Amino acid sequence: MAACEIRKNCPLRGLNTWGSGGSCLWLAAPRSSEEAVSFVRSGAASEGDVYVLGGGSNVLVQDGLLAAGVVSCSGMTAASFAGAGGFVSAWIEAGFPVKKLLALAVEKNLGGLEFLAGIPGTVGGALCGNAGAGGVSFAPLVERIETVSRNGELRVWEAGELKWSYRASPWGSAAPFLITRAFLRIPYSTKDNIIRNIRHYSSLKKGQPIGAKTAGCVFKNPPEGAAGMLLDRCGCKGLSVGGAFVSERHANFIENRGGASSSDIFALAEKCRARVRAVFGVKLEYEIKFFGAF
Ligand SMILES: Cc1cc2nc3c(=O)[nH]c(=O)nc-3n(C[C@H](O)[C@H](O)[C@H](O)COP(=O)(O)OP(=O)(O)OC[C@H]3O[C@@H](n4cnc5c(N)ncnc54)[C@H](O)[C@@H]3O)c2cc1C
Repeated sequence: MAACEIRKNCPLRGLNTWGSGGSCLWLAAPRSSEEAVSFVRSGAASEGDVYVLGGGSNVLVQDGLLAAGVVSCSGMTAASFAGAGGFVSAWIEAGFPVKKLLALAVEKNLGGLEFLAGIPGTVGGALCGNAGAGGVSFAPLVERIETVSRNGELRVWEAGELKWSYRASPWGSAAPFLITRAFLRIPYSTKDNIIRNIRHYSSLKKGQPIGAKTAGCVFKNPPEGAAGMLLDRCGCKGLSVGGAFVSERHANFIENRGGASSSDIFALAEKCRARVRAVFGVKLEYEIKFFGAF
């Protein structure tokens, strides 16, 4: 098997949807789950800080030099779909784009993936943070997830071992290093149902700044209500730091309107968080993930 491509001092700005942040010490780009496993087993990722990157649509990357390595999964895009009874059994590599998965679901009349309408990123990223919409996520479709630990141990997690909760890793705080593949059992549906559901999930996105450079919702919804509503009610819409602006459409989105650094974005997020704490006594928890020191 060919060795995985490694780039030294790799800029990360082009690899995340905010378009901000600096460079990492090295970036490894395996082209398959096997290549990812042999890269990890080579020991190249066993020391120092190492981050795993999917589509970069939910991360804030430190400015300047990120003194860490990054394994990018976006080249791991193999998948296999086999029909059996009323279901399709699929294995899908972690870097497979969810947009492409939704398009395949429409083509093959598969139901249960419509929640992905308007969500960017990869299957691995979506599983890692239990991405979803309207209370729906990959959870009911997942049969098994294959992961590799930092010391190269391959492990398969059965559905019963995974604990799904709102925007949280199904492993809690003990998430394995890298998701290599997911095994899904996807039911057949009808084209009409699928299209109707996609319209429904797309309608949930209407108030969002589609097309702007964002990373989706910055904060999770606390038990007190939608984070966007709390942020809006304490006047966060339109606040800015450098090139970072709180969206006027949806207060839980921060837009990079040109030249925003990750420090700008973080300073603005903290400003908003402080307002919500001062006005409502609610401590918002970040939904985005951080690469580096903030
Ligand atoms: C316009 C827009 C709309 C959005 N709408 C939604 C929405 O409706 N619902 C929602 O839940 N999210 C939404 N998001 C956020 C984001 O798209 C999702 O969280 C997405 O699932 C992240 O996937 P990713 O591949 O981009 O992950 P990344 O951003 O690359 O990574 C996110 C986290 O997952 C980890 N990770 C990624 N791949 C792997 C892997 N293979 N193994 C182990 N860890 C991994 C990373 O280390 C990081 O901690 C939106 C974002 C944008 C920009």
